[in-house]
Amino acid sequence: MAVYMCRAVLPAHAGPRGELAAGPLLQWMDAAACLAAEKHAGVSCVTASMDDIQFEEAARVGQIIAIRTKVNRAFKTSMEVELKPVQLLSAEDHLEHSLAIERRRIRLGYVQVFQKLMQESNKEDTCEEKDAVSTEHTHVQSTELVLPPHANHHGNTFGGQIMAWMQTVASISASRLCRSHPILKAVNMFKFWGPSFVGDRLVFNAIVNNTFHNSVEVGVRVEAYNCEEWIQDQPRHINSAFLIFNALDDKGELLTFPRVKPTTQDGVRRYHGAIARRRIRLTRKCMLSAKGDKPSDAWETSNQAYLSYSNIAALTHLAGKPGWDITKTLDNVKIWTHEEGAVLSFKVEMQVKVPSHVAFSLLSDFSLRQRWDRHFLTCEVLQAVSEEEKIYHVTSAPTTGHQPRDFVILVSQRQPSRPQEPYTVAVRSVTLRAVPPSPEFCRSEILCAGFQIHSNSSSSCTVCYFNQVTSGVMPYLAANLTGSSKSIEDTALECIKFLELEDSKY
Ligand code: ADP
Repeated sequence: MAVYMCRAVLPAHAGPRGELAAGPLLQWMDAAACLAAEKHAGVSCVTASMDDIQFEEAARVGQIIAIRTKVNRAFKTSMEVELKPVQLLSAEDHLEHSLAIERRRIRLGYVQVFQKLMQESNKEDTCEEKDAVSTEHTHVQSTELVLPPHANHHGNTFGGQIMAWMQTVASISASRLCRSHPILKAVNMFKFWGPSFVGDRLVFNAIVNNTFHNSVEVGVRVEAYNCEEWIQDQPRHINSAFLIFNALDDKGELLTFPRVKPTTQDGVRRYHGAIARRRIRLTRKCMLSAKGDKPSDAWETSNQAYLSYSNIAALTHLAGKPGWDITKTLDNVKIWTHEEGAVLSFKVEMQVKVPSHVAFSLLSDFSLRQRWDRHFLTCEVLQAVSEEEKIYHVTSAPTTGHQPRDFVILVSQRQPSRPQEPYTVAVRSVTLRAVPPSPEFCRSEILCAGFQIHSNSSSSCTVCYFNQVTSGVMPYLAANLTGSSKSIEDTALECIKFLELEDSKY
């Protein structure tokens, strides 16, 4: 039941940078999806909703876009006709089918999660920076008349056409903050509240709701009027969507957006709404990016030096990246996230009242970790390679419904070689022939994690814990982002308590 469509990217489809604009792409995707739905249902279909869309790479004029659409699953309630179940043939069909249920679960739970996150975000203040730009400055309004080419043979406006108009208005709004051509990175899931028809006037209102380091969220509300409603000013709400843009400077580097300040009550609500939506989007990304783990490099005599080096280098590189966005602030703990393509990482920053060298010696000894990190069930040294390098076997509690996990990790510790440098404790998985995966445990991998410890004074330091998300930590981070768990901040508080208690014993 697949439908294939291909399109050549022509200059008319391209934006100012010569890259395929998001508008035509959204239209083609929607048209192809609609054809697949009709092929399955045997009646004319319209788009009811769309899940998050992420744009990863750009296509250019002259290239061909191949679109393949397939019905993954038919839900009785979301269509007006009884639909026959989808026939599943390949393993991929089965995977898509079960993912469709997961996506539906997120869709249905969205409102509750969103409201909870909004309450949490409301407790934090809006931006107080004095050079923050007023969101009013980004308001854009545009009106379109729906003509026959914008609609199907029943006169219903194509969803993709509405999305293309929304994206145009939203990108104009975003451009007010960056004086450059914004690039659409993601569209949050949305649904159509009602149909619109040929002859309707569609009014698009867009405004920036919030900015994050390298991205901006623009909200668009679409309302429809027929001639009579137009005079009486009685609009029908068609849909609302939230679009995330990046922008590049002349050198092709990501631009940093100015902070914004809302000026109305609605603006403040939307400012916090954008924070909540960002966390939900990151959660979904976190779920999608954590695919099956690949076994890590083998620890062999020939590559030990390389593995130790790459362990430290990867952590230093991750810590030095620009573009960390804060997601939670407590008195002495801050949680940050970083996204780059499909890779998601988080950082926990802790203010600790102990000298940096004490924190370093306590944190680099992983056999002490169970004392403050309840995710660690057991931890034993497998090989003490040198003063600076140890290999551990760690077991950790199962995430709900799963087997307990285990890890074989290389922990590399380094003292600063110059006064301004931090202490470093880097962690990555390695494969040891002597410790193969066992049936009792689900073997998990750590790509890049660890601590950097910066001295603040002779008696205090800042400890930063980093972790690049893999399937092992994904459920924790997802639960923390959606607010259903506080395990990351609780672990950080335990870590601070442990360090300060041990220090007082010295
Ligand atoms: P909400 O206000 O809860 O976000 P709406 O459906 O009213 O939901 O609006 C969706 C988005 O459209 C808003 O977040 C905002 O960014 C934008 N928007 C709505 N109304 C206006 C308006 N009158 N002017 C400018 N932008 C608007």
